[in-house]
Amino acid sequence: MTQFVCNSCSKKYDMTPSLWRCECGGVFNIAKDIPKIDVSSWNNYPNSLWRYFETMPFEKGSNKWQSVTMGEGQSPLIVLDPAEPNVYVKIDYMMPTLSFKDRGAAVLMTKAKELGVSKVIADSSGNAGTAIAAYAARCGIPCDIYLSDETSPKKVAQVKAHGATIKEIRGTREDVAAAAQKAVNEENVFYASHVYNPYFYEGTKTYAYEIYEQLNAASDALIIPVGNGTLLLGAYYGFKELLENGLIDKMPKIVAIQADNCAPLSKAFRTGEESAVPVANTGTLAEGIAIAAPARSQQILEAVRNTGGTFINIEENEILSARAALSDKGFYVEITSAVNYAGYLKYNKAPEEKIIIPLCGAGIKSK
Ligand SMILES: *Cc1c(COP(=O)(O)O)cnc(C)c1O
Ligand SMILES: [Zn+2]
Repeated sequence: MTQFVCNSCSKKYDMTPSLWRCECGGVFNIAKDIPKIDVSSWNNYPNSLWRYFETMPFEKGSNKWQSVTMGEGQSPLIVLDPAEPNVYVKIDYMMPTLSFKDRGAAVLMTKAKELGVSKVIADSSGNAGTAIAAYAARCGIPCDIYLSDETSPKKVAQVKAHGATIKEIRGTREDVAAAAQKAVNEENVFYASHVYNPYFYEGTKTYAYEIYEQLNAASDALIIPVGNGTLLLGAYYGFKELLENGLIDKMPKIVAIQADNCAPLSKAFRTGEESAVPVANTGTLAEGIAIAAPARSQQILEAVRNTGGTFINIEENEILSARAALSDKGFYVEITSAVNYAGYLKYNKAPEEKIIIPLCGAGIKSK
């Protein structure tokens, strides 16, 4: 029986489909040990993130994923510019719904299907909702997606196409989440939340496993955009598992990127706080990382600090020029994803430092 353990008070619960948060308000982790990695098992699986199935908390031999997968994962790792051979982009927009959220959604919805849930609810600034809607459709599970009424029309169209019911909420990102959570509690259904459900991170951790296979090592640094921290924490957990199994000999430094107009984590990092104090989002083009009150802030700050990493803030006027600069090199990313490259340009790198910049969302998703 899988158990959840509260990140704040350590209370343990038997996992049930409608349980999503501790009674103290804390977020859950899965109660489990670091997996023993058997690299020789990887070739028994298709060339997708499911290569690492045996590192995920599923019963051995459980095969629900086979009917859920759309081939997500194993995104290319490419040198961005031959003049800088140690700087790579990992092209995570090459996914079924065109963002890295498919890593988490595929694993989380596989778990939902295994549990036999009758309906899922999620809230999102766009891409997580799109990914959950797509995988819910794949699973044949009805799905309500809560979105702000200001969500990019292209992302709304994507969600709608998968047959999800869209609940448009007027208000902040936090108001959207609160409306979804109220519905989850009232309807007693599965909260397919990329923020709260720890199975999502079992999917995003494969970002690290793939880098390990592509480089035969960890990189020195990882540039990672952060709003709720789903890629950041996944990458951290993945590399930690590789480190504790002796497959790599050091953790990559996490260089976390926030939009200056909505940067609660960066502020807490600088002031030495253990968790973030919510800020007011004063408006940013980087809609996908505009999270004023990240629920996993304590874990994100700990991850960045444990790797000797840092935070970099991006100003509004740096975003579109970074997007144009990437397009000039052949890569067309959504506006939010341009902050990753803007962050790289501001990062004070060491000579020969091996750095990976994720390209998180495809250009056609935004204006
Ligand atoms: C979700 C997303 C992010 C940020 O991820 P968080 O989990 O909120 O930290 C960054 N870029 C894109 C394109 C995204 O879809
Ligand atoms: Zn608790």
